[in-house]
Amino acid sequence: MPAPALPLLSRDAPSGARRVAMPPRHLADLDLAGRRAWAAELGHEPFRAEQISRHYFARLVRDPAGMTDLPAQTREALGAALLPTLLAPVRELSCDGGATLKNLWRLHDGSLVESVFMEYPHRATVCISSQAGCGMGCPFCATGQGGLRRSLSTAEIVDQVVWFAQRVSAAGRRLSHVVFMGMGEPLANYARVMAAVRRLTAPAPEGLGLSQRHVTISTVGLVPAMRRLAEENLPVTLALSLHAPDDDLRDELVPVNERWKVDEVLQAAWDYAARTGRRVSIEYALIRDVNDQPWRAEMLGRLLAGKLAHVNLIPLNPTPGSRWDASPKPAEREFVRRLRAAGVATTVRDTRGREIDGACGQLAASEPGSPPKSDGRVAKMRDIGQDPVGIAGNLVQSGWADSRGPEGKAKQ
Ligand code: SAH
Ligand code: SF4
Repeated sequence: MPAPALPLLSRDAPSGARRVAMPPRHLADLDLAGRRAWAAELGHEPFRAEQISRHYFARLVRDPAGMTDLPAQTREALGAALLPTLLAPVRELSCDGGATLKNLWRLHDGSLVESVFMEYPHRATVCISSQAGCGMGCPFCATGQGGLRRSLSTAEIVDQVVWFAQRVSAAGRRLSHVVFMGMGEPLANYARVMAAVRRLTAPAPEGLGLSQRHVTISTVGLVPAMRRLAEENLPVTLALSLHAPDDDLRDELVPVNERWKVDEVLQAAWDYAARTGRRVSIEYALIRDVNDQPWRAEMLGRLLAGKLAHVNLIPLNPTPGSRWDASPKPAEREFVRRLRAAGVATTVRDTRGREIDGACGQLAASEPGSPPKSDGRVAKMRDIGQDPVGIAGNLVQSGWADSRGPEGKAKQ
């Protein structure tokens, strides 16, 4: 496959949409055969592509300068071609003694995206972005409020994970789970997200070797893409962001519900569960006096009873200036009680990480140099360079730093 010298123009931008500059090609955009062919086109032995891939995916070396077993010329010429820098760190925040890390990245075109790492006793999860911004327009989600800037390339997605894998392996730990719950709608960037999942789960040197079962894709409910995903023969966990059991309210909270209604999106989820044997995680952001009424808990319970499903309640992370707030704890407890009474497995998502800048995603929107809002638990904040975070308000939080995936334990 030819290696473009210049950034690619998006080939699958929707018609009428402004064409966006994609980043330079990176080895993680291609499978191993493609990388070998690319090396040959550049005048190198194909096995060199394999060696560099092994460095990147198995030894987690992202800088060709560190690949000292390669001849200098291979390192400098081929390494630089196959491993262009895709993510420039802008800011890195950590709390819980380093067990929660949140990174803000600048992409080659100036777009900003975030990733979050959370470590628990038996798992280490990274929550990644699949798009810069999001076009789905959910009104409670700050990412949605800024609109879509562009989809990420496969390698921009993969590199977020490899960066954290390297970071935790340096501390003697191992990254185990990946959740697509950062910025963007993963199923609206379908082909690149699928390629990223394959890269993340293929054994080295093809990929990072994570378990497919430890990958969670969260969707707003794009039914045709959910059906396509079910056909992929990839036992990844599907999370469906439902947020309301009735169309009246879901039309308001999740605008794509105008296109695919509650019954249709749930049917696609049940078909996914039947096809893969995987329990679907139903995401439900609890919003005070909006979707947290006991009758809605019962209605949701009736829809989910007996299904291969699990409800993950997310305390709303209010976006700046929003008229909505999180449900009070008694309402949350009652909601959980009624769902469980209906026989539906229910957990409340841990809100760890929120102490960083008050809410996740707000890194991208915060003023340059301004300290994070802190309740005293933030261990440290480190600014990398003097980056002017110049598009304040465009890319903001989507509530995902709290994500621990559907296997997370209920908060006590
Ligand atoms: N676009 C995908 C994945 C990214 S959003 C989706 O919507 O599923 C990841 C999760 O964060 C979704 O369940 C989303 O509804 C939720 N979310 C977005 N904004 C939130 C907020 N302000 N508070 C709590 N959860 C939020
Ligand atoms: Fe997009 Fe998900 Fe936010 Fe909706 S909740 S706007 S789909 S990122």
